[in-house]
Formats: sequence, structure tokens, C-alpha cells
Amino acid sequence: MSALPGGEDPYSESIDPGIACSACDAVCCRLTVVLMPEDRVPRHLTDRTEHGLHVMARDEDGWCVAIDPHRMCCSIYDERPSICRKFAMGSPYCRDVRDTYRDQNARGIPLTMY
Ligand code: SF4
Ligand code: SF4
Repeated sequence: MSALPGGEDPYSESIDPGIACSACDAVCCRLTVVLMPEDRVPRHLTDRTEHGLHVMARDEDGWCVAIDPHRMCCSIYDERPSICRKFAMGSPYCRDVRDTYRDQNARGIPLTMY
């Protein structure tokens, strides 16, 4: 998130500074990641949906196959898709995904998001 010239960041109030990816199960990496034509992701990490969308492939537990399962971080960080680059830590969408994951796991329900 970049601040505007003059110092005021209009989105800063929507970011929760208490949330850190380093203390998260990378639950945003369970969302469907649709690839854009300009994305340069290794092809073997991608998939096609039944509707023909080019997406990041996911493993049997629901995480993107590019996740490093030992460190729970992106193994292709420098070439990650554009949609991943826009996903902001602590943003409303981040908080929503974390809340959903927490709620559904608490009930023992496997999470599937489309
Ligand atoms: S962006 Fe949010 S959901 Fe994704 S890893 Fe970071 S804290 Fe977790
Ligand atoms: S490409 Fe990287 S950042 Fe994007 S969903 Fe997969 S593991 Fe997460």
C-alpha cells in the first residue's frame, strides 16, 4: 500500500497493524487465484477450472501448490501472480478470510472457497 504524496494514506485505517503473515497459516493461499495473461508462473503449478479459467493449482488440503509447507510461505514469491501481490496483510479481505478459516475449523468443517 503506497502513501499519497503529502503523507496521508487513505486506506491506512482499514489495515489492522496487529495482523502479521508470520503468525498466520497463509489462509489467503487457499483462495482461488485466477491468473492474468501477464503472470509468469511455472506451468506445472497451474490448473484449469471446469469453466476454463487458468488458476493456481491447489493441493488436497486446499492450499496453493506453490506454498512451502514447512514455512507456510510462497515458494515463488518473486514471480507470484499479480492477484497475490495486491492482497494486503491486515486488510478487510485478509481479516475476513482469517475469520472464516477460524470459524470453520472450529466447527471441524473443511474449508472450500471459490
Ligand atoms: S495476507 Fe492475511 S491471510 Fe494472507 S498470510 Fe498474511 S495475514 Fe494471513
Ligand atoms: S502463488 Fe504464492 S502467494 Fe499466491 S496463493 Fe500461491 S503460495 Fe500464496
